[in-house]
Amino acid sequence: MLTSRSIERAGPSGEDTRRHPESWYAATAPQPPAANALRESVITEYCVVGGGFAGLGAALRLAQSGKEVRLIEAGPIGWGASGRNGGQVHIGWNKEQPWLEKHLGKPAAHAMWDIALAARANLDTLLALDPDHCEFRPGHIHADHKRGFVAETRAHVAHMREEYGYDALRAVDGDEIRTLVASANYHGGSVDAGGGHLHPLKLALGMARAAVAAGAKLHPHSPCLSIERDSKAWRITTPQGAIRAHKVLMATGGYAKGLLGEVDAHVLPINNYIATTAPLDPARAAALIAGNRAVSDSRFVVYYFRVTSDHRLLFGGGESYSYAMPADIAGFVRPHMLRIFPQLHDAAIDHAWGGTLAITPQRLPYVREVQPNLWACNGFSGVGVVLAPYLGAALGEAMAGIESAAFESLRRLPAPRFPGGPLLRWPTMVAALSFFALRDRL
Ligand SMILES: Cc1cc2nc3c(=O)[nH]c(=O)nc-3n(C[C@H](O)[C@H](O)[C@H](O)COP(=O)(O)OP(=O)(O)OC[C@H]3O[C@@H](n4cnc5c(N)ncnc54)[C@H](O)[C@@H]3O)c2cc1C
Repeated sequence: MLTSRSIERAGPSGEDTRRHPESWYAATAPQPPAANALRESVITEYCVVGGGFAGLGAALRLAQSGKEVRLIEAGPIGWGASGRNGGQVHIGWNKEQPWLEKHLGKPAAHAMWDIALAARANLDTLLALDPDHCEFRPGHIHADHKRGFVAETRAHVAHMREEYGYDALRAVDGDEIRTLVASANYHGGSVDAGGGHLHPLKLALGMARAAVAAGAKLHPHSPCLSIERDSKAWRITTPQGAIRAHKVLMATGGYAKGLLGEVDAHVLPINNYIATTAPLDPARAAALIAGNRAVSDSRFVVYYFRVTSDHRLLFGGGESYSYAMPADIAGFVRPHMLRIFPQLHDAAIDHAWGGTLAITPQRLPYVREVQPNLWACNGFSGVGVVLAPYLGAALGEAMAGIESAAFESLRRLPAPRFPGGPLLRWPTMVAALSFFALRDRL
């Protein structure tokens, strides 16, 4: 259980929860909706812990269904991964459809693809909640950094078009990729017209405003210190208040280690880093990526990048496997950025930040009723911008007793624990991830 001292002053990553971490998003986001920390003891029907995409998706859907719901968040709304990610709109799961077919069978794989498309359609509805449409720009490029991967990508594209009828996706050869991304690093890839990029903190705040308008009560700066069950309800304690709730959703991402053993066994945190250059000359910025699309590549520790609305390159690259973040994040990300775009050697870095994402052993979300009336929705494994708001909403429906096909599919997914038990699961995972990360450098 987290102690009030550790969580009141800083997140588990040691970061200050009183404000959003310094980032280009925090510098360009609108004010959050007016909301106060919890300073009383209250009884409510539904409580959501965690104010990221998953928790906000659930609170919004519950409130829209006329339910009484309170959401508590340790920091400001969108403080976690949802307010500081790469903003890449990627359709699908961390595992590609052929992997899902092999491990779950074709009918379940098709059901998963249908959920991914429904999640993408849901995102369009959520974008409309923000006056700028969260700065959404269409188009997502997958870039292969090894020549040997190009044939695999071509086969994948053909499979998606034939098996799933997904013709927004097309393959790209070596000549074309160099016209799309101004880098000698890539040999081919694919373009998905259905993907894109957006400003994730605007999305989180738009969802928060809509949830409040629908009747949800949001309490930022209200960390859950403990959750316990008595004979009638769940009791959640915060530093200055308490909530008794009949039904609780834990949507705490990679930030709640030690709060609930069942979630800890299935979800582990990884830190990942992003930097933005100072604004570039608009023509120079536009020349980096054709059509202002988003790009992510084939590395195990993925490089992902895009140009912002004010003509900066936003570049994500590099991760670490401890809560502590590097002291000089700009210096950590810069060599990765220059590996892809050496022509930016003279560009200053204006903002640099890290975030914690939650992964599961199979890189598929962990969506479960873990104990009676206690749900978890977590482990989006790096692809939560599209999926987390939708699966949060699906959880909201399941909690409210509304039939949710998405929840039914997801709760049936195999959910292995990380091997090694509480003491060894962390070092075991670090060893495995470090091995794969090393292969990127070969
Ligand atoms: C650097 C980075 C880049 C990424 N890039 C992309 C990308 O480009 N595209 C993509 O699809 N995905 C990306 N992701 C992943 C994506 O951001 C996540 O999958 C998604 O935001 C998960 O949403 P969530 O609601 O589950 O978690 P979070 O957004 O992390 O929300 C969980 C919240 O719970 C709160 N919390 C935790 N413990 C407590 C407690 N005890 N009491 C109260 N509140 C608590 C936290 O403060 C946090 O705000 C990235 C992630 C990171 C870190």
